[in-house]
Amino acid sequence: MPELPEVETVARSLAPQLQGRTITGLAKLDWPKMLTPSPDEFAALIAGRRIKAIGRRAKWLLLSLDGEWTLAIHLRMSGQLLVAEPETSEARHVHFALDLDNGRRLIFNDQRKFGRVHLLDRQGLAALDAVHGPEPLAADFTPSALAERLQNRRAPIKALLLDQHLIAGIGNIYANEALWLARIHPLTPGAMLTPEQINELHHAIRHVLQEAIANQGSSLRNYRDGYGRQGTQQEHFNVYDRAGEPCPRCQSTIERIVVAQRSTYFCPTCQITMQQSE
Ligand code: ZN
Repeated sequence: MPELPEVETVARSLAPQLQGRTITGLAKLDWPKMLTPSPDEFAALIAGRRIKAIGRRAKWLLLSLDGEWTLAIHLRMSGQLLVAEPETSEARHVHFALDLDNGRRLIFNDQRKFGRVHLLDRQGLAALDAVHGPEPLAADFTPSALAERLQNRRAPIKALLLDQHLIAGIGNIYANEALWLARIHPLTPGAMLTPEQINELHHAIRHVLQEAIANQGSSLRNYRDGYGRQGTQQEHFNVYDRAGEPCPRCQSTIERIVVAQRSTYFCPTCQITMQQSE
């Protein structure tokens, strides 16, 4: 599933293709479940809207439109968003497309059909913002802000990092990579982290996200940017999906466990286990 770096890459690659363009209408919709409001209402509201800016909140891509509307798109498992010629939207897995005033289309290709497209008014956007924790790359996400979020949290740090209410945008890949970089065992309860470990983790989270953005994200299965190009961050994983391989830091064998129903990869030697004291 695309995480913060992938959605950020899509936003940045779509910006030069979409900014200032006007949406002339709904060109294709064959999976109405992905859309709110209703298709008729959506088609009436979207036509003639100018795209002012392209941004991101958590794992949501946000197209700011005139009239204070926002088109919020979540790629979920397999969504790909790109700008292309109208013929491209005839492909089988394209379930949604918008006509643009330059004759091209904004096309949502989504093999698994978990993607979502919501047209939000100002209140709807505020509600989306409110259910997400701080942006880990924002200036106000400091080590003490992270410490505050982890206070009294007894869940494993790996599970806490995936909680979008706690911190926005981190998914399974970058949670694994950040914990490895910070030398923290994924099962350590959040509240047990020392101030030094929280500093390390804060640095690690930012480092892995920034590195992934610099490499245009990780293309494991379906992820592509707004031009249909793959990212290369998957060539730089230290632990993710590397069970049985040597740890790049200490050569111990990387292990896989399941935490919060997600595959979790770690080095049993250099990621320190903290025992919960009762
Ligand atoms: Zn190691």
